Amino acid sequence: KIRTRFAPSPTGYMHIGNLRTALYSYLVTKHNNGDFILRIEDTDRQREVAGAIDIIYDVLNDTGLNYDEGPLKPGDVGPYIQSKRLEIYQKYAHKLVELKAAHYCFCSETKLKDAHNNTYTFNDPCKSLSIDEAKKRIANGEAYTIRQTIPNTSTTTFNDAVYGTIETENKLLDEGILLKSDGYPTYNFANVIDDHLMKITHVVRGNEYLSSTPKYNLIYKAFNWEPPVYIHVPPVMKDEQNKLSKRNGDASYQDLIKQGFLSEAIINYIALLGWAPVGEEEIFSLEELVKIFSVDRISKSPAIFDYEKLKWMNGVYLRNMSLEQFNNYALNYYQDNLKADINYIELSKILQPRIQILNEIPEAIDFIDSPYPFNKELFVNKKMKTTIENSLEALELVLPSLNNLDFDNEDSIKDKFIELAKKHEKKNGQIMYPIRVALTFKAFTPGGAVEIAHILGKDETIKRINNAIE
Ligand code: GLU
Repeated sequence: KIRTRFAPSPTGYMHIGNLRTALYSYLVTKHNNGDFILRIEDTDRQREVAGAIDIIYDVLNDTGLNYDEGPLKPGDVGPYIQSKRLEIYQKYAHKLVELKAAHYCFCSETKLKDAHNNTYTFNDPCKSLSIDEAKKRIANGEAYTIRQTIPNTSTTTFNDAVYGTIETENKLLDEGILLKSDGYPTYNFANVIDDHLMKITHVVRGNEYLSSTPKYNLIYKAFNWEPPVYIHVPPVMKDEQNKLSKRNGDASYQDLIKQGFLSEAIINYIALLGWAPVGEEEIFSLEELVKIFSVDRISKSPAIFDYEKLKWMNGVYLRNMSLEQFNNYALNYYQDNLKADINYIELSKILQPRIQILNEIPEAIDFIDSPYPFNKELFVNKKMKTTIENSLEALELVLPSLNNLDFDNEDSIKDKFIELAKKHEKKNGQIMYPIRVALTFKAFTPGGAVEIAHILGKDETIKRINNAIE
C-alpha cells in the first residue's frame, strides 16, 4: 500500500501552491488506494502563528482532501506534529554522529558561513574533533549543533518521477545544521526522519526541495534506509517572473474563498496547474480526478495561475448547480446588500447564468434598491438605434399599458413589449432598451428589460418610468 503525506508549516494561511501540492499528494495516493497522511511541520518557532493549525484542518476539510492519519486521526506512527517529536529527532541525530554522517559543532553560524555564496562549506574545524572530545565539551555545558557531514568527493544520484535522473557533485552540497542548539531539528533533518518512520513511500513536494534531496538521500544511506519515490512538482507562478505572493492578496485559498470562488472550482482549477488530463475536458470533480490522475502527466515547467480562467471555471460550477443550491450560496449576498422586498429565487434565476464569482452579486443587484443617478445620455445607443428623444417617446407609449399587466408572468411582460414595438413600428430594442435604462440607469445589468421589470414589480417599474419621463 502506498503512503503519501502533506506536510504543511502552520503559517496562518494556505498558499495555493501548497494546496496544489496537497492535492497532488492526495491524488497520487488515492489513485492507488493508498493512505494520505497529514503531518504538521512546526519546528520553525519564529514563524509560529496562533490558530494556524486549525486553518490547515479547515481547508483540508472544506476541499474534501480527507486524510487517513493526522493529528486529529492518529494512526500507528504518531505523533503527527513535529514539535511533539523532538526526542525522536534528537535520538536519530546523535545516532547519525555515531554513523559518521554528522558531527557535533560548536562554531557560531557566522564563522562557518561562506560570505560569498551564503552557504556552509566544508571548512568546519569541529569535524576534526573526536566524538569523545565533543561529548566532553557538551557535558561541560557548551552549546552545540549537529551538522551533516558530507563526503567531499564523488556524486549522489537519484531519480525523480517528474524531473528524471538528478546527479549532484557532493562538494556542491552544504553541511547544514540538522539539530539546532535548542534541540529542535531543521526541516532538512526532520523530513527524512519522519518520512522514514511514518513509512511514506512517495514524497510529493515543491521543486524548491529538488536541490536539497541529495543531502536527504545521504542521510537515508547512512541509516541504511530506503529513500521514498520522489515526485517534485513545478512552482505556481503569478506570471513568467513572479511567484504568487501573499502580499498581492491572491495567493491563498482563503483569499479566493473571500473573493467568492467555490471550493470545488478551486480544486478543479489547481489540479490543472502543472498537470494535464488526456483530452480536452477540463471540468472534473475530486472523485474524477482521483480516477484519471497520473504522475507521468505532471509537467516540469512552472504553472501560471490564470485568474480569468479560474473565474470562467467558477462560472461553470455556478451554472452546473441547481437553482436552489445557487440561491443558497447567494443568500448572504442578498441579505447583506438588499433592502427591497425581492423574490430571491427569481433574482437567482437571473444571476445564475450570468455571474462567474459570487462577489459579483452586490454590484449586479445594486440598482434594485434605487436606480443609479439619472443620466439621459445612457438612452443613446447606436446598436439599439435609440436616442434620448425616441427613448422618452417609447417610455410614454409603454406607460399606459403597464397598469393592467401581470408582472408575475415574465412571458406576458415580454409579449406586451413586443406587441407595443410592432404596433408603433419600432424595433424590439427601441422599446426594451429604454425601459432597461429607465429602470436602472446602468449601462450593464444582469438581465434585460423584461427580467428587471419582473423583479422590480409593477409599482416600482411604473414609478421609475414616470421619473425618467419627467
Ligand atoms: N513544511 C514544508 C513546507 O511547507 C514541507 C515540504 C515537504 O513537503 O516536504 O514547505
